[in-house]
Amino acid sequence: LHNQVQELKGNIRVFCRVRPSLRNEGPTDIAPMQYPDEFEDAKEINIVGPEEKNSLGAVLRKNNNFSFDRVFGPRSENGEVFDEISQLVQSALDGYNVCIFCYGQTGSGKTHTMSSTDGMIPRAVHQIYETAQGLEEKGWRYTMEGNFVEVYNENLNDLLGNPDELDKKRHEIRHDLQRGKTFITDITTVQLDSPEMVESILKKADANRSVAATKANERSSRSHSVFILKLFGENHITGERSEGTLNLVDLAGSERLSHSKATGDRLRETQNINRSLSSLGDVIAALGQGKEGAHIPYRNSKLTYLLQFSLGGNSKTLMFVMVSPLQAHLSETLTSLKFATKVHNT
Ligand code: ADP
Ligand code: MG
Repeated sequence: LHNQVQELKGNIRVFCRVRPSLRNEGPTDIAPMQYPDEFEDAKEINIVGPEEKNSLGAVLRKNNNFSFDRVFGPRSENGEVFDEISQLVQSALDGYNVCIFCYGQTGSGKTHTMSSTDGMIPRAVHQIYETAQGLEEKGWRYTMEGNFVEVYNENLNDLLGNPDELDKKRHEIRHDLQRGKTFITDITTVQLDSPEMVESILKKADANRSVAATKANERSSRSHSVFILKLFGENHITGERSEGTLNLVDLAGSERLSHSKATGDRLRETQNINRSLSSLGDVIAALGQGKEGAHIPYRNSKLTYLLQFSLGGNSKTLMFVMVSPLQAHLSETLTSLKFATKVHNT
């Protein structure tokens, strides 16, 4: 192995990240939360409940305590967050399939963490590139290929393709079960000859989404975007080969969109989001039971089907549960933290 991949209890890790309050969000908008100072190796987050008096008049608070593999407070920076996942990212160079998800309601910081120009996607590409260069003296040559796709309404779209074809061109997912490989038909594949190319990939994906919808943000909150980096390595001294995949996933907003208020297209979107997020939870839960030969319901959604060979088996998974600091978002925050706790306990 090229690096000391931290051995983990189980294959899934969960990190929580609380975003800072924004300029228009004042102290009175902020929900009472406690986490140990973010510069320490914090693992807990506590949502402080409202004061209540019991029958004897004693003041009680119902606290909700959650613990994860790591908790990042609002002062954390993307660089610091990346440091904690860099080993995992690099294990794709050793031939592992790695999946990193950002889960959380709209506005909780998923895109900032994952797909911004300062986020995990460009950082991962730059770091992998550097490490691969360092391995050249040991005989390794790597090639990197990137795809950027979106799952919207259970359809797969090519975010690097022709904008006119978004939502029109059909792409099928094909699995080679014997070799454990996934292919997407008619998809644009970019050879990453230099790490700087990731910037143009991110721009292209953004541009594609904005052409498709008048409100690009609304679309991205209702779709899952998946950046797929395939790494092919060959050692010309030893003859070894390796093939790994890194999937970086910015999930659709997890907010409970009520079925009663939505109609038409909106209702269909809502149902699709709820279904794919719960399928993801089901797949992780089924994998967590660790029963040999057990049925894993990958086929229940496009997202889990796409990621079939990167979830479970010999793959490594990490989920960020993203949290808004706002009082107004507290009930969604609790729902997200409970979902993440289930994932963490599998
Ligand atoms: P989501 O993708 O979950 O809907 P965003 O990533 O778009 O959320 O974040 C919502 C807003 O908060 C954006 O304006 C974003 O720039 C800002 N934001 C999120 N996380 C941070 C952070 N860690 N530091 C500074 N601003 C942040
Ligand atoms: Mg977003």
